[in-house]
Amino acid sequence: MVQVISTHNGVNASRSGNLTTDTKTQKQPSLYNNVVAQLDKAADLMGLDPNIRSILEKTANEIVIHFPVRMDDGRIEVLTGYRVQHNNTLGPFKGGLRFHPSVDIDEVRALATWMTWKTALADVPFGGAKGGIQIDPSRYSAAEMERITRRFTFALGNNIGPEYDIPAPDMNTNAQIMAWILDTYLSTMPPHERFRSTHVVTGKPIQSGGSLGRDKATGQGVVYLIQEWAKDQNFNLKGARYIVQGFGNVGSWVARLMKPLGAKLIAVEDITGAISNPAGIDPDELAEYVKRTRGVSGYKKGSPIDHEDFLRMEADIFIPAAMENQITRETAPLLRVRLVAEAANGPTDPAGDEILQARRIELLPDILSNSGGVIVSYFEWLQNKRSEFWELEEVDAKLRKKIVSAYQRVRAAVRELDTDWRTASYVVALSRLERVYNERGIFP
Ligand code: NAD
Repeated sequence: MVQVISTHNGVNASRSGNLTTDTKTQKQPSLYNNVVAQLDKAADLMGLDPNIRSILEKTANEIVIHFPVRMDDGRIEVLTGYRVQHNNTLGPFKGGLRFHPSVDIDEVRALATWMTWKTALADVPFGGAKGGIQIDPSRYSAAEMERITRRFTFALGNNIGPEYDIPAPDMNTNAQIMAWILDTYLSTMPPHERFRSTHVVTGKPIQSGGSLGRDKATGQGVVYLIQEWAKDQNFNLKGARYIVQGFGNVGSWVARLMKPLGAKLIAVEDITGAISNPAGIDPDELAEYVKRTRGVSGYKKGSPIDHEDFLRMEADIFIPAAMENQITRETAPLLRVRLVAEAANGPTDPAGDEILQARRIELLPDILSNSGGVIVSYFEWLQNKRSEFWELEEVDAKLRKKIVSAYQRVRAAVRELDTDWRTASYVVALSRLERVYNERGIFP
């Protein structure tokens, strides 16, 4: 039985899967509280229509699925997966899938809402969604991961679709997982519809319909924006020192793309620990090491440091590219950097934001700076729809144009409203949504 919780613009689900409602629906614990605090600040400043505000502060659909999967040893585990669809006013729901023990309804609700602001700000024709499975992927074999992914996709049924809701990679998910989702989804389609549906996920392997440049797109977008910021500040990136938290897809690509600009990576932290080297760490070499060992810990050309020493590193730029709630009342006072470029979603909480502002540490906020991923996902979706295949140079040039123009819109709002970059980003995104609601009205 499939149930969809709260629909104000939903779809009927059809295939089998065991979905239950979440009893805590609309109760707002931690991460979603951050979203509401950020929304309130921007909405007050811009005088957002209260009716539109009340729509946007709720999610459209929240899907919770408990699904059984057979393990290699014959046991059955019942796992919990989520898909939250926040808003599809501007286009199909869009957002990543995360496999992580921290995944719960509150986290996914917050991440889905941020996607709505991100797509509105980037000016791509999508809404916002997010999903995930509450698991520690390191506990499962590759064969188990495949069965988990396929069973979850099957249970989601028509709650995803190429013109309705399009997942993509996020933490602990990658092109391989997207290929399994694609294959499962296509296998349930009538034969004559299959090849009209390859855009049901983005971030696919190239041979399965992926786009060149999607793997590095989020990191590339962050780096394009750091370059814009540096231009505005008259700051020379050659020789600039930076630190990165998280050395997975996004963090490692940021570092590898900062290298040709002459910037120096002096400390890295991931789930296995933190390392530093004031003389500089080679990002390509470290990425090779992490591919073999699954973490930065033990890398010989850096010295191990603890979490607090990592945060206290004196550098020009800090790039959080791991988890949410990393820059808080406790940790924001420790930072000794000039710029925080948020590659992760939600790395700074509202108390952390206030401290950064008081300390005049500049910020490129997540919904702007990590939007490169969804922008190139949009390009992948377009290529699939048109049966086209774009060159990497074309993808990169289009990404740069789109993300820099979002940066310029936010910079103009910062100046006009005399506010901080996060609030200005929200105002630009919310203004677009407000305009569209006003044009269309509310049915009936
Ligand atoms: P990933 O799984 O490839 O990498 C995550 C990294 O974070 C790993 O290096 C891991 O060791 C590290 N990490 C996890 N927990 C940590 C902790 N407690 N302390 C320090 N390090 C920790 O994930 P990713 O795709 O690179 O995503 C990273 C962040 O970027 C997430 O917030 C994600 O939502 C965001 N993001 C990703 C994309 C994308 O295209 N993949 C797009 C937009 C935003």
